Amino acid sequence: MKDEVLKIISEAEEKLKDRFKMLDQNELYNSQKVLNAFHNNHLSYNDFNSTNGYGYGDLGRDKIEAIYSDIFGSEDALVRREFVSATHALNITFSALLRPNDLLLSISGKPYDTLDGVIGYYSKNESSLMSFGVKYHEIDLIDNDFDIEEIKNYLKNNKVKVIEIQRSVGYSARKSLSINKISRVIKEIRKINKEVIIMVDNCYCEFSERKSPIEVGADIAVGSLIKNLGAGIASHGAYVVGSKKLINLVAERLYFPGEAKEMGPSLGSNIEILKALYFAPTVVNGALKTAYLASYVMNKLGFKVSPKYDEERCDIVTAITFNDKDKLIKFVSGIQKGSAVDSFSTPIPSPMPGYDNEIIMASGSFTMGSSIEISADAPIREPYTAYLQGGISYNYGKLALTEAVMELYK
Ligand SMILES: *Cc1c(COP(=O)(O)O)cnc(C)c1O
Repeated sequence: MKDEVLKIISEAEEKLKDRFKMLDQNELYNSQKVLNAFHNNHLSYNDFNSTNGYGYGDLGRDKIEAIYSDIFGSEDALVRREFVSATHALNITFSALLRPNDLLLSISGKPYDTLDGVIGYYSKNESSLMSFGVKYHEIDLIDNDFDIEEIKNYLKNNKVKVIEIQRSVGYSARKSLSINKISRVIKEIRKINKEVIIMVDNCYCEFSERKSPIEVGADIAVGSLIKNLGAGIASHGAYVVGSKKLINLVAERLYFPGEAKEMGPSLGSNIEILKALYFAPTVVNGALKTAYLASYVMNKLGFKVSPKYDEERCDIVTAITFNDKDKLIKFVSGIQKGSAVDSFSTPIPSPMPGYDNEIIMASGSFTMGSSIEISADAPIREPYTAYLQGGISYNYGKLALTEAVMELYK
């Protein structure tokens, strides 16, 4: 079997040659962006110094935020170790922007599973936004693109405070949303409503393209440091980028009104966050190549994949549908076998905080839950789809995929 798998892989690499060349150019472009931001902001060895206590005057922390602002093209940024993950940052951001009776509108269908309880629509929770009187509505995508007519219609007839756009697929069957699509919908939204706050859940999409959502008109964007921009180096944290006014609101919610960004001790995390950013374009390139490879190989073996190897994507996630619980579990176990850490343990489906279905998760990673490292997770529900992502390098991604296919056919 191993020879067969290796044969399909080399066939895939031949087919993907031009794509990989394009991805390398993209990596170079984004690396230049990072380097320019380091240079423009005079990144210095002294910025690796740390503060404790209140964290006043943490120059490195402030410089990280200036660098993030440069890279995203935003006025301001909040890049903090106090955010545990993106869900935490999304929760704080929603709570900062929405007040009782305000209306939140998702225009990319159902938001990511961990937001079920945060919003309180799919999962009742006494701390949810809805429990505070925030109203919620969602509009589904059509043919993997925004339903622009429906969105315009809804905006004409309702006073929406915040629009949420999720770029990556989450645990759904849809495709990721490119910057072009986001640019187009934002232009249409602005024809109707100039005030509405457009917020992008940017998870899994950083450095997959050249532009950021802010550069095409989004007001605020949120992402995780245990995904793309953490590059497997940052041990936790999340970022929020956007206008000065909105970032101030988010910081006042994270800390307290009156203090905002002034406080927040970095506790030694500055060097980690900066080093992660430096590596991120390369690491994301490895994850994207792994994704294209997996898409080709799994499709060749007869499974439904999304997106296909020759389709555009702007996230690092590949959905592989097994239509069979046993095959799904075998594949995920194989990814675990091909991981760096805990390769000898067997993942089993179990309840996860924040998720309604049981989840099986291969995450043999240096950082708990890190999904820029090679990882596969799946809610245990039909049609038994695994979501594969990461691979700190293309070679580690390829090795884990090989292991998973071997396990599947053992
Ligand atoms: C992973 C993910 C989240 C949650 O991020 P965590 O860092 O795991 O909390 C939110 N939205 C999307 C689209 C994601 O992929």
